[in-house]
Amino acid sequence: MAKTEAKPDVRPGCILTMGEILVEILATEIGQSFRQAGTLIGPFASGAPAIFIDQVAKCGSPCAIIGCVGDDDFGALNVERLREDGVDVSGISVIKAATTGSAFVTYRKDGDRDFIYNITNSASGHLSVSEIREHLLKDCRHFHVMGSSLFSFRIIEAMKSVIETVKANGGTVSFDPNIRKEMLRIPEMREALDFILDYTDVFLPSGHEVMLLASASTEKAAIDELLNRGVREVVVKRGKDGCSYYDGKDERHVQALPVTEVDPTGAGDCFGGTYIACRAQGMTVERALAYAGAAGARAVTYRGPMEGTATLAELDAFIKERAGVSHG
Ligand code: ATP
Ligand code: MG
Repeated sequence: MAKTEAKPDVRPGCILTMGEILVEILATEIGQSFRQAGTLIGPFASGAPAIFIDQVAKCGSPCAIIGCVGDDDFGALNVERLREDGVDVSGISVIKAATTGSAFVTYRKDGDRDFIYNITNSASGHLSVSEIREHLLKDCRHFHVMGSSLFSFRIIEAMKSVIETVKANGGTVSFDPNIRKEMLRIPEMREALDFILDYTDVFLPSGHEVMLLASASTEKAAIDELLNRGVREVVVKRGKDGCSYYDGKDERHVQALPVTEVDPTGAGDCFGGTYIACRAQGMTVERALAYAGAAGARAVTYRGPMEGTATLAELDAFIKERAGVSHG
């Protein structure tokens, strides 16, 4: 895609996302096995795009989500939570014949997580072009794609359709690959990821995902490849090692705030939601990265994927408390 330098990389205005809305149910012990009975905690509101958009709303940006829930309490829990936090939920369909998606999570001793998902056969699996709401597309200035949402051909088709419309209307696109290993079993996934990257203005991969979507053999070369392809900003998320920013001219590395991690799920989504909202509000890269890093760090101190979403005022207080630095 041709670069258009004069335009901001995240267009100000309504931020839209689309994808799975779930509840998450967590094992309470590290190393707990799902092959035997144990104590679980939940349901918690979840789904990567839902966490992302909840965080965007908490940052004070107008935003909406397109998704599907079942006609059940798991669905109501999510819709009420998103609405309360300021997300436009008019794009969430209630599918009578389906149940809301779910994810069960156990935490390994090495810090990794194992998930058992019920998404494809849940209400979220009903997402298709027919769920796209015209009024939301008309208002949308920025669309965020979560790679975890690309779990069916119908959703991939819907995602492509929204991306094309938003870009044709002069909007911008961000993409967090959030690749789950289960998804790579879909053979057309690579083609879909390539399609999305061709339209991506802001790319938000985790460290290990940078190489997954480029042919280069070093991270630096892979980032250059992505920038040459038309991506305008690459922000690499590195967990407790912070994050790095690249736009072809400028390169920044931001250390993570020191925290005690309770639950890593949702950090990347909170980081992404904050970064995109802050950029759409016209903040500098430096300020957006500071808020995004704080949002990610704060999120891991909360058990439950959406429980750590925070307002900018809460992030200011958190930054001050952790580093003695105010961004007011
Ligand atoms: P996920 O594995 O859930 O997809 P992710 O890889 O997208 O997560 P992370 O890199 O884990 O995202 O987290 C996003 C950001 O949040 C990091 O770049 C960092 O700024 C902050 N962060 C995450 N974990 C920690 C931590 N343990 N301590 C401090 N900051 C953290
Ligand atoms: Mg992620």
